[in-house]
Amino acid sequence: GVRIGVVAVQGNVSEHVDAIERAAAATGYDVEVVEIRDSGIVPDCDALALPGGESTTISRLLRLEGIDEEIVAHAEAGKPILATCAGLIVASRDARDDRVETLDLLDAEVDRNAFGRQVDSFEAGLDVAGLDDPFHAVFIRAPVVDEVGPGVEVLATWEGRPVAVRDGPVVATAFHPELTDDYRIHRLALFDRLDADADTEAEAEA
Ligand code: GLN
Repeated sequence: GVRIGVVAVQGNVSEHVDAIERAAAATGYDVEVVEIRDSGIVPDCDALALPGGESTTISRLLRLEGIDEEIVAHAEAGKPILATCAGLIVASRDARDDRVETLDLLDAEVDRNAFGRQVDSFEAGLDVAGLDDPFHAVFIRAPVVDEVGPGVEVLATWEGRPVAVRDGPVVATAFHPELTDDYRIHRLALFDRLDADADTEAEAEA
């Protein structure tokens, strides 16, 4: 089986745990989901989810607990990470806000309040690269990705702006895939990537 950690210092933790368990049940994956509030757990995880919530709080607590460096090492080892909303902000190279200590896992600059304060939340059907049918995306005080480096693949846009991106092992969404029954983004970011890595290892051994 695989162990998937949900970073649980703050934010939409239980929703991600549920979404990963649903995705695992539907795809026949043997998964153990662990919530991460302390250092020492990330090194034993095969994949991670970095939930939404409040990015200044999340980044402060990650640093305080010494989890920040473990997440960076996880990404450097090429292991999958799904970062959503505030998680995307924390994962980025630059959040253009001194209060957010970004992890620089995603070669992108983000705009924390891209949709303005008036547009608190909205929902939209998005075409996402790698998914056959549109994904019903829930945006809540969502960021957008403003500038992306050459290694970043844009998976989905809204009004011409990137709202789902991939940078190597990291998939990040401005919206909240854990808030709908649709687990396809979790499968794409976590399980499909683990499968691809397992295939590569098997080929190397053959
Ligand atoms: N606007 C929030 C932030 O800057 C993110 C919102 C969310 O995660 N739903 O942290």
